[in-house]
Amino acid sequence: MKKITTIAGDGVGKEVMEAGLTILESLNLNYDFIKSKAGFECFQNCGKTIPEETIKNAKKSAATLFGAITSTPSEKSPIITLRKELDVFANLRPIKTFEGVNSLFNNIDFLIIRENTEGLYSQIESFEKEEEKNSTKKEKKENNENEKNNKITKTIAKRVITKKASTKICEFAYKTAIKNNRKKITCVHKENVLKKTDGIFKESFYNVVERYSAKCPDIKANDYYIDATAMYLITKPQEFDIIVTSNLYGDILSDEGAGLVGGLGLSPSANIGDKNGLFEPVHGSAPDIEGKGLANPIAMILSISMMLEFLKEDFYAKQINKAVENVLKSKKIATPDLGGNSKTSDITIAIKKELENLI
Ligand code: ATP
Ligand code: MG
Repeated sequence: MKKITTIAGDGVGKEVMEAGLTILESLNLNYDFIKSKAGFECFQNCGKTIPEETIKNAKKSAATLFGAITSTPSEKSPIITLRKELDVFANLRPIKTFEGVNSLFNNIDFLIIRENTEGLYSQIESFEKEEEKNSTKKEKKENNENEKNNKITKTIAKRVITKKASTKICEFAYKTAIKNNRKKITCVHKENVLKKTDGIFKESFYNVVERYSAKCPDIKANDYYIDATAMYLITKPQEFDIIVTSNLYGDILSDEGAGLVGGLGLSPSANIGDKNGLFEPVHGSAPDIEGKGLANPIAMILSISMMLEFLKEDFYAKQINKAVENVLKSKKIATPDLGGNSKTSDITIAIKKELENLI
């Protein structure tokens, strides 16, 4: 039997995973679930934020479902490690408005495709000694003092952007546009300042555009700076169809996008590679609402729908989306983030019932 690895993680990760599994198990599909550990609680219990066994399980599964984790100080992020280990180079985050949910705009429907393996999230950081060449006597003295007291005054983060990964993600954007009948791809960068790193990203994008434009002339391509895009998302969000961008920009824009359409409780994501798929809600472990049964499970349930699409269970993927849409449209049940006072379990049961009617 095919396997799905599930990693609930910490905080509301566990609560939305329970809700998600209620939906998934109700479909009676032929999958074995391997429950695996990662996150802060896991670190407290076994000294690792992501044990080898979890990575092994994920690698031998058809797909992996991830809840959310609380970060562990001075440890590398387990989700970033997992994305690297599974080589899921593309992170897809759909931004879509739902009928029945208050949002700044109606009819928004675009997809953020974020490069997932490099950029500023390469996690290559170091402490450096301050340059002394042009420093004044006073500064030199301060530096010596800092060194004596082991005080760090300069830190560096490396931002790796390769032609190979940039080309791959831009090609992926085209393939996704073709598959989903989307008509425009916007490359987001900051090439005017980061001339080398964002330069190569933008250049790779236009090389891909050139190759694909003969094949699919109906797909338009353009590019914007990241700062301008942050504004356009709130002044003309309907203009976007697919955004393709590097790791950190994509992370920030997708939280902004989530805010545009009803918040993190509704935002799913997929991490896709040539072989593996890893699916997770965009939100974190939300310690402020942990343990209260108030987390919105919809981001997780929609991530499950994305996982089923990846597993070629298209029918079930579509029905889950429909069930969520219908429940939101009815406005009868909503968690506090959507202005209601229902519990995680209420909304899960409502979606499960709706799904039973649909299949
Ligand atoms: P991370 O660094 O892991 O992304 P974060 O600091 O961005 O975490 P989140 O845990 O995503 O923070 O939470 C941000 C805000 O969104 C919090 O106020 C939280 O309560 C809210 N939130 C997150 N997930 C949900 C959810 N499923 N349902 C309702 N509210 C949520
Ligand atoms: Mg976040």
